[in-house]
Amino acid sequence: MTHDIVVLGAGYAGLAAARRAAHNARRDRVDARVTLVNATADFVERVRLHQVAAGQDVGVHPLADSLDDRVGLVVGRAEGLDTGDGVVTVRVGGTPRRIPYDTLVLALGSTAGSGGVAGAGEYAATVAGLDRARALARRVADERPERVAVVGGGLTGLEVATELAESHPGLRLHLLTRGRAAPGTGPRGGAHVRRTLHRLGVDLSEDTSVAAVDADGLVLEGGDRVPADLVVCNVGFAVPSLAADAGLAVDGDGRVLVDATQRSVSHPDVYAVGDAAHATGVRGRELRMSCAMGLPMGWSAADAITARLAGREPDTAPFGYLFQCVSLGRRDGLVQFVRADDSPRPFVLTGRVAARYKEYIVASAYGGLRGGGEGQASLNLFLTRAAARRFTRRSGRAQYARVA
Ligand SMILES: Cc1cc2nc3c(=O)[nH]c(=O)nc-3n(C[C@H](O)[C@H](O)[C@H](O)COP(=O)(O)OP(=O)(O)OC[C@H]3O[C@@H](n4cnc5c(N)ncnc54)[C@H](O)[C@@H]3O)c2cc1C
Repeated sequence: MTHDIVVLGAGYAGLAAARRAAHNARRDRVDARVTLVNATADFVERVRLHQVAAGQDVGVHPLADSLDDRVGLVVGRAEGLDTGDGVVTVRVGGTPRRIPYDTLVLALGSTAGSGGVAGAGEYAATVAGLDRARALARRVADERPERVAVVGGGLTGLEVATELAESHPGLRLHLLTRGRAAPGTGPRGGAHVRRTLHRLGVDLSEDTSVAAVDADGLVLEGGDRVPADLVVCNVGFAVPSLAADAGLAVDGDGRVLVDATQRSVSHPDVYAVGDAAHATGVRGRELRMSCAMGLPMGWSAADAITARLAGREPDTAPFGYLFQCVSLGRRDGLVQFVRADDSPRPFVLTGRVAARYKEYIVASAYGGLRGGGEGQASLNLFLTRAAARRFTRRSGRAQYARVA
């Protein structure tokens, strides 16, 4: 009997999973049908949404360009999940439709989180989704704000602040962050980020906690005010509640707890990938919500599903990080090379070379999700696993040396 694999969400992780599951099923002669459900008919390159917010027309592609007849596409919003009967309810053009599955892959991604900043949902702009990023671009163009406060100095906040500063030289940008900006970078990478913010005229306040956003700007913890005509918040992502509502085992943020094959620890016929999943890498460290990990998770879940259908044991090796890429406008960037556990190595690329490298990575992330991307997918999956294996071997040896 045909095995129905239903993938919910066609972002990086879901599209990667659907394409690879269909490819593997044909290769292994497994009788499986793959259905991909997505809220829109387009694939959104989320990693370009700061560019969209800065007014660039980039990052949206018809999903049909990435799919052939091996994957059925349903454009609709998943509204409910019945894990008992194995059915997803999807609203298609206003009508609820029940889609049965034998194996489900949850890949619904994430939206903007408030990070505990009061009023963020009401008063702050975000770049977490296409509509919000476009709305931000319109506000900047129409309202011509003078002072823009960007909250959050993680990679997304940095990309937003630098992209806006470069494309709108008249804006007075102020980046505020708890702790230090660009956490996860080493001393050379961090210094380059600070120099670039200074060059682009972005004021930086580190070790600054924002308590609230209102119509006049920011209120800091302690009560000080920072006036702003526009606030952009990048203080974390939130995930849809579908998995938690359906009774799957989730973490405190609602992300599905999965094993090394991206399979739910509570529901063996459900897998979760990308931002929707709480997965661990080397040393049991939680994987960052990122495209960099979403893609290998998607491929690996598909490999595990089809391996099990074909009666083989799936690969359970964890993924290791290779580098972090940050764009700092279109002409500058930072590539921070990292160990498999995401800790920084001394080596970095900066400036135009880094900007080009980052552009190559972003373009090939989408490129690998189009026709003929399976070879690239296999290579990337191999590299992330090889990094983890090497790291585990080395830290095992180091531990042995210490004990001996
Ligand atoms: C501005 C910005 C820059 C970033 N830069 C980087 C970077 O440089 N490197 C990096 O690694 N990561 C980066 N990220 C993070 C990265 O974009 C995400 O981690 C990644 O997109 C997660 O992939 P995903 O497939 O899990 O989810 P998503 O890409 O969010 O895709 C989820 C999909 O599910 C669909 N969906 C959601 N709800 C439903 C529903 N109910 N029914 C049907 N469909 C639904 C959505 O339409 C979407 O297609 C960045 C994020 C942002 C916002």
